[in-house]
Amino acid sequence: MTNLDAYRIAKEPFYRSVGGEVGLFEAAYRSRMPVMLKGPTGCGKTRFVEHMAWRLGRPLITVSCHEDMTASDLVGRYLLDAEGTVWHDGPLTLAVRQGAICYLDEIVEARQDTTVVIHSLTDDRRILPLEKKNEVVKAHPDFQVVISYNPGYQSVLKDLKESTKQRFAAIPFDYPEAAGEAEIVMREAGADKSTAEALVRIGARSRNLKGRGLDEGASTRMLVNAALLVAAGVPIMEACQVALVIPITDDDDLRDALTGAIAACV
Ligand code: ADP
Repeated sequence: MTNLDAYRIAKEPFYRSVGGEVGLFEAAYRSRMPVMLKGPTGCGKTRFVEHMAWRLGRPLITVSCHEDMTASDLVGRYLLDAEGTVWHDGPLTLAVRQGAICYLDEIVEARQDTTVVIHSLTDDRRILPLEKKNEVVKAHPDFQVVISYNPGYQSVLKDLKESTKQRFAAIPFDYPEAAGEAEIVMREAGADKSTAEALVRIGARSRNLKGRGLDEGASTRMLVNAALLVAAGVPIMEACQVALVIPITDDDDLRDALTGAIAACV
C-alpha cells in the first residue's frame, strides 16, 4: 500500500477563523458528511481544509480539477511497466482505501461525467467501484470528500449537477473582515500594520469594482502577494501593480481606476 506520510500535515497551518466554520466542519466530519466550501477564489478555502486535516489528524489528498480531467485521473488506471500492466490507484482511490480527506479543488472545472464517480462515495453506500479492475472499494471509516466551489464562475454550462450538489453540506466563505484580513496579511507576509491595513483598504476598493468590469476583486491571496513584494523592498505602488492590477484585468480604463483607488489608500 502507498504510504500516506507525504500527505500528513505535521505543523499547524495558520488559519484565522472568520465564523463558526471550524466547529461546523468538525460536526460534519463526525458523520463523514461530504462538505462543499463555497466562496470566491483566494479567500482561504484551501488553507481551511489544510488546517482541518491537521486538526483532525487525517492525511489530505488534494486534486486540482480541470476540464481535461477524466474519471481515470481520479480513480486510477492500468499502466505498462517492466512487469507488464500494473494497476495504479488514482488520488481518490488512495484516499478512499486509506482514510484520507480528499479535497477536489474547483470541482466545476471537471466534466460532469467525471464528477459522478464521487456519487457512490457521497451517499450511505460509501463505495468506489473500479470498473476497469473489477473491484469495489469500501471506503475507510475516516474517509471524507471535500469540494470547493466558486459561485462567481457559475454558468449554465459549468455547474454541478443537481444530484451532485445535493450530496453536500455547504460552508460559505468570503474575504475576512478588515481587521482579520490585515492580521492575515501581517502574519503571512511579515508586513507591518500600516502596510497591511493599506492593502486591505485596497482590497475592499477593488471588490467594489466587481460587476463594473471586474469579474472579481483582489483576493486575500493577492494582498498577501503584494505584501510579500513590499517586504522584499518593492515600493507599495509598484507592488500593487504587479500583484493586483496587472493580473486582474487587461482593460486600460479599469487599470487606471484601480491605480487611482490604490493611490488613495496608501
Ligand atoms: P482559496 O482556496 O479560497 O482559493 P487559499 O486558501 O489558497 O484560497 O488562500 C489564499 C491565501 O490567502 C492563503 O495562502 C493564505 O496566505 C491567505 N488566507 C486567506 N484566508 C486566510 C485565513 N482565514 N487564514 C489564514 N490565511 C488565509
